[in-house]
Amino acid sequence: KAARSISEAPPAVTSIKRSPAFEQLDGYKERQILRGIARMQGLDVPAFRQQESRPGPISVMNGKEVLNFGSYDYVGLNLDPRPGAAAKAAIEQYGVSASGSRFTAGERPIHRTLEARLAKHYDVEDALCFVSGHATNVSAIATLTGKHDLILYDAYIHNSAAVGAELSAASRRSFPHNDMDALERMLHENANRYRATLVVVEGHYSMDGDIPDLGRLLELKRKFGFWLMVDEAHGLGCIGATGKGVREVYGVAGRDVDVWMGTLSKSLGSTGGYIAGSKTLIDIMKYEAPGSVYSVAVAPPLAAAAACSLKILAEEPERVKRLHENGAYFLARAKALGLDTGDSIGSSIIPVIVRDPAIAIALSNKLLEHGVNALPAVFPGVPLNAARVRFFVTSEHSKAQIDTALSDTARLLQELGSSPIAHLIATI
Ligand code: PMP
Repeated sequence: KAARSISEAPPAVTSIKRSPAFEQLDGYKERQILRGIARMQGLDVPAFRQQESRPGPISVMNGKEVLNFGSYDYVGLNLDPRPGAAAKAAIEQYGVSASGSRFTAGERPIHRTLEARLAKHYDVEDALCFVSGHATNVSAIATLTGKHDLILYDAYIHNSAAVGAELSAASRRSFPHNDMDALERMLHENANRYRATLVVVEGHYSMDGDIPDLGRLLELKRKFGFWLMVDEAHGLGCIGATGKGVREVYGVAGRDVDVWMGTLSKSLGSTGGYIAGSKTLIDIMKYEAPGSVYSVAVAPPLAAAAACSLKILAEEPERVKRLHENGAYFLARAKALGLDTGDSIGSSIIPVIVRDPAIAIALSNKLLEHGVNALPAVFPGVPLNAARVRFFVTSEHSKAQIDTALSDTARLLQELGSSPIAHLIATI
């Protein structure tokens, strides 16, 4: 058929078919209902709060100084001038953007410097960086597994790992949080049914601040022969005597875990994600993971900042020691005040569990009015009856700041009493 010439008019449209309105989308409708309920209870849902300063222990929010327990800068490296200076030097040398994927447009030496340091940190053969932690999990999990495989993941795994599992063609199931007996039963039931099984856990869970039983996981790995993937987004810099993460807590060699995953955006004060492991694993990631082949490389200044932070972390273990002292102090004080901190081990993540989502939101709002920033986590991030306000403790907080935040929390929680839906929540 001959192509229509440009000057020819297109055929007349006889009936107009409308696309569905965005307002009809399920997520949007649900959010409108939740917003309505929140408004009826006089609650302002705290999201997209504005901060006009670096997120340190004291931050400026809406022009006011507040005590900040809402940042992942666990060992203060986003406050340190050195990573920032390394980022500026990298801009001078390489420009702001990598301007393309490393696969096609080539890499900068700073990418390999960072990856060599990450490989050293985990004591494994190699590492590869991606533009974000989220993109890393999505890309890596979907690349490694296919339709003949099974993915078993902890029920509290981060959204990025769950999305990666969903996008892979593999079968997938979650096991109850940290329940190794349940995992063993699932492994037993599925033995020999799949080409490979990938078990995904976190090294330090972001909602509860607890850790997995790595010893038992390695025992199960020897028994059933699966790949073990550990997301160390909140492990690096936070747990283990020198911040090496969950493997340091258990005295485990880096090579005992098949896939280490993490992010540059928390303790390392930058932005990006990474996979670390064997040379073969990294070769697969480099040449097959869509986030490597089809996506731009980590921006050079961000790679330089993260590489610098990792070096500082190795040279200044006292940062981790200070974080641990602060975490232990926070946990002990919170318990003394009768606050429910769940299973937190008392490092950088300490939830104050209030159960009722309305109370969690109201508490966070009241805290901000009193000059303390700590954010709520509610369903679906946590179970409906397990709402909490999470405190991210850092090496840079002072004991006095912790005392103020906790006494305000205990007092405001008492003043809030219970919400109109508390009785309902209590029965769930
Ligand atoms: N994994 C976990 C456990 C996380 O908590 C997060 C982010 N909060 C990510 C992955 C994603 O990392 P990023 O924010 O760097 O994309």
